[in-house]
Parts: sequence; C-alpha cells; structure tokens
Amino acid sequence: MQTTIFNMAEIKDINDAPGTQNTHQSYHFGGNAPEVNSKSLQLATVLQSTLELNKLLELFDDELSSLVKHDGLSYVNKEENHRVTFGEEVRHRCTYRLILLDKDIGELTLYRHSQFDDEETRQLENTIAALVYPLRNAILYKQAVEKAYRDPLTGVNNRAALDNALEQEINLARRHSTPLSIIMLDIDKFKRINDTYGHIAGDAVLKRIAESMVESARGSDVIYRYGGEEFVILLRNTDKSGATLLAERIRAAIESIMFKYDSFDIRITASAGLTTMLEDDDLSGLLDRCDKALYDAKQQGRNRVVVAENDN
Ligand code: GH3
Ligand code: MG
Ligand code: MG
Repeated sequence: MQTTIFNMAEIKDINDAPGTQNTHQSYHFGGNAPEVNSKSLQLATVLQSTLELNKLLELFDDELSSLVKHDGLSYVNKEENHRVTFGEEVRHRCTYRLILLDKDIGELTLYRHSQFDDEETRQLENTIAALVYPLRNAILYKQAVEKAYRDPLTGVNNRAALDNALEQEINLARRHSTPLSIIMLDIDKFKRINDTYGHIAGDAVLKRIAESMVESARGSDVIYRYGGEEFVILLRNTDKSGATLLAERIRAAIESIMFKYDSFDIRITASAGLTTMLEDDDLSGLLDRCDKALYDAKQQGRNRVVVAENDN
C-alpha cells in the first residue's frame, strides 16, 4: 500500500541515554490507491480476519516478527482509552502516529535492544500501512459494540450487555473457582416520583442514582440497568460478605442523596437482593434467586438489603 509521509520529525528524549534511537513520526494515510504485492496481500488477508482490537494487534505483532525482528510493541489510543503491549519496552524505539483520513487512530511503537536500520524502518512503514484500515475498522467496531451495550440515559451498561457478560462470568468463576456475586437493586416507590414531579424529574433522579452507584462500586464491579428503575451489579471475585458490604454501602449512599427539583427536596430509597453463585448455578437460577431476595426486601418494608436464602 502506498503511504504519504506527511511529517517526519525526530524527537530527542532528554531522558534517553546517548545513542538511544527514539524516532517519532506522523503518518497520514488515505486517498492513494494501494500498491499490491503478494506479501502485502497475505498480510492484509490475515489482518482482515478479525475485528477485535487486541486480537488484531496480536496478529500484526506475529506477522511483523517474521519481517522485522523486534522485542516489543505497544499501541496507545488515548481517545479510545486503549493501551496494549506485547513483549518488552526496551531501549530503542520507533513511534508512529497514525492518521487515517485526517483522523488520529493512535500511536504504535516498536521496541528493540538494538537500533533499527534504514531498510528495517522502511519495512516497518510498509507493514504498518497494511494495518491502518483494519485498525480503523476494529476501532469503529469497538465503538459500535460499546454503544449497543450502553444505556443512553444513565451511561451504565444495558441489559443486552448483562445477557452477554453473565454467562461468561459464570463460566470464568467456575473454571477459576472464584466467588461471583450479584446484586439486584430496585428504586422504592419510583412511580410516585414520576407521578408527583413528572417524568423528566424521574429521569434526572435515575441518572443521579446510577452515578452514585458508580461512585460506591469498585473498578471491577460492573453496573447494568436491568429494567426501568432496576439495576444489577456484577461482582467478580466477591463472596457473600463482600457483596453484602457493597450492597449496604450503595443503599446508604442512595438514601443520603438530597435531590433538588425546583423548590422541592426529594429523598429516595432503594431495596436490594443479593446472591452468590452456587456450584451448579446457571444464569436463570442465579437471577431468579436474586430476584426473589429483592422481592423479600420489598416485602420486609423496603430500603434494605436481603441476602438470598440458600446462600446461608
Ligand atoms: P416499588 O417500591 O415496589 O418498586 O415501587 P415502584 O413504584 O418503584 O415500582 P413500579 O414497578 O410500580 O413502578 C416503576 C416505575 O418506574 C414506573 C415507571 O414509570 C418508572 N420508570 C421506569 N423507567 C423509567 C425511566 O426511564 N424514566 C422514568 N422517569 N421513569 C421510569
Ligand atoms: Mg421500584
Ligand atoms: Mg421495578
């Protein structure tokens, strides 16, 4: 594939030891007809076999190894919050900022104990040229999947994401013999909020509650909007006591929020059921048991956490 070299600037990194290769180049791609030879065709075929970003970079790293020896590769896309590294980040490096049709699609760095010579950097550039379109497609695919799995009102994951993740999490927990807990949380008397203050106020309350849940949870806990005013939190590697602590923290945080709407101060509470995976649980067994615990929390007077009965 033909590439247009737009700007080639060598940046000296003052922290590097003398003699360290540290090149930094911007490449603009797009607009030119590709120049096809059998090697680039083979590479393009391999790279087009996946839309998954990590897998794509792994394939690229493998293919590149047979063309230019290197000790490490890293790809960073700050906008997409994506960073992947293979091998070691050693002394000498060539960094390529990739720009496709005026869109920055991240930075790729190749590392090696010894310097890359001119012929090798030419080979690197040719190989990277075959990566840019598959890379752009993988980024677009990632964005589309993320959008399809996100609830637009609250910004947390949606039910489709839960359906997709839960089965996988159950299998992982079983394989690694790690505990898996889920919390199901439902806002109390929420219909009354809509009826009293209107649907827009109800939406704002839902949004604030989701934010509060995100603030209360740990990074490894994943929050899903399961239904209208119902949320599920998936707790990896968390047993019953850990899940109970978190559920109680979330419940207390929601109770402490003072919602202001016009001149009204609104207080909200939520009820939660929780359960921990049993050895022979399947997806529906786990969700049903959690749902039952949530129902019990409502029956027992709301604004409380109930642990599913057969978790004792
Ligand atoms: P309970 O304590 O038993 O859970 O009572 P509840 O009023 O919360 O339960 P109910 O299931 O009767 O009502 C749920 C309400 O949630 C009804 C519906 O209008 C509201 N709701 C669901 N989704 C949304 C939404 O996206 N925005 C707003 N504003 N309201 C929603
Ligand atoms: Mg409710
Ligand atoms: Mg409900």
